[in-house]
Formats: sequence, C-alpha cells, structure tokens
Amino acid sequence: MYEHLRYYGVSERVINAMNMVDRKLFVPEEFAESAYLDVPLPIGHGQTISAPHMVGIMCQKLELSEGQKVLEIGTGSGYNAAVLSVLVGQTGKVYTVEIVPELAEKAIERFKLLGIENVYVFVGDGKEGLPAFAPYDRIVATCYAKRIPPPLIEQLSEGGILLIPVGNEYAQTLKKVVKTNAGIEEFSITSVRFVPMV
Ligand code: SAH
Repeated sequence: MYEHLRYYGVSERVINAMNMVDRKLFVPEEFAESAYLDVPLPIGHGQTISAPHMVGIMCQKLELSEGQKVLEIGTGSGYNAAVLSVLVGQTGKVYTVEIVPELAEKAIERFKLLGIENVYVFVGDGKEGLPAFAPYDRIVATCYAKRIPPPLIEQLSEGGILLIPVGNEYAQTLKKVVKTNAGIEEFSITSVRFVPMV
C-alpha cells in the first residue's frame, strides 16, 4: 500500500518497514476506514498521526540502520515509533517522549499488543530531550519548534542526525542537523505542516 512512496524517494527498506506496521491499529476506530489513506488523521487531544508519506520521508532522511539508538519527540499514536523500531531492528532501541500522558499510555498498550519490545515511552517535555539515555544516533521530532531546542543537539552523538520541523503555525521547514567532529551542519529538506511542540 505504500508503493507510491518510492516517488518521494523512499527506499524499499523503509516501505517494507511501513508495510510491517498496521496503521489501522494506531488510529481511533472511527477513522479505521481511512487508516490506509495517505493523509494525517486525528488521534484525540488535538493531535494527529502524520500522513504515511511524511513518515516515509522522515525515516528515509534519518538514514536508519540496525542497532541504532533513536530518540523521537512526540509519540502520538506510536505509529512512527513502531516503524522506527522495525528499521533499527532487535539490536536497536527507540526512546520516545510524549507530553500528553493519555497518548503515551495508549501507545504503550499498542506496543504491548504488537509485541514490540524495543520502544521505550516516556511522559515529558521533549524540548529537554531525554538526557538519561543520551547520546542518540538519531533524533526525530514529529512536532515543530520555533527554534531547535539546544538539548536535542547536545544529546546527538558524533555523526548523528537530527530531523526537526522548524517554523511557526503557518510555515515550517523540515531541518536536518548533522553533528560532526567539526561542528554542526544544517540543511533544509522540504516545507512541512506539523502540530506545535508545546
Ligand atoms: N509521531 C506521531 C505523530 C504525533 S503528532 C505518530 O506517529 O502518531 C505530535 C505529538 O507531539 C503529539 O502527540 C503531541 O502531544 C506531542 N508533543 C507536542 N509537544 C510536545 C513536547 N514538548 N514534548 C513531547 N511531545 C510533544
């Protein structure tokens, strides 16, 4: 169902990972019929599950491989974290921070149900990152920030990649930050529309 994502430059590896996670299990029952459409959907608390093409593009730009340690800001439904967990494999770990406790609980239930054991959910403010388990090979925010929160850059390992939408309510750019031993490189990927990091 995600074959069209190849036109966005999404690889077979990422498409296969997405096909292994049933998006229907991550949306409220009243939207079950729309679960396989390439659109964002409401998940309650004013939040949305991202459109599949956005999940694909972000997973692609993260250049994920087996065994990596990933931090996600904005667990939401847990769908993106579940796809990340497939891409880092059994030897990898996904830490995910959600500010709405009810969404975090629901996501934890879904991971249990699906037997996903390498995703660790935390309730908190993602602007602080998750220092306890830093550094991370990859960090991805699924909500936009006005400015890149410095802790996210601090908690990135050398050679690490951070993806984060930056902007305001009207216009946001997906930024890619690469941390090297020489410093920080920043790239703009594409215009995006996300909910705010509160
Ligand atoms: N990755 C999610 C999409 C979530 S939408 C999915 O696959 O479904 C963005 C999420 O970020 C929302 O659930 C919202 O509650 C959360 N969020 C907003 N501000 C946050 C913050 N400061 N820290 C952590 N999570 C935050």
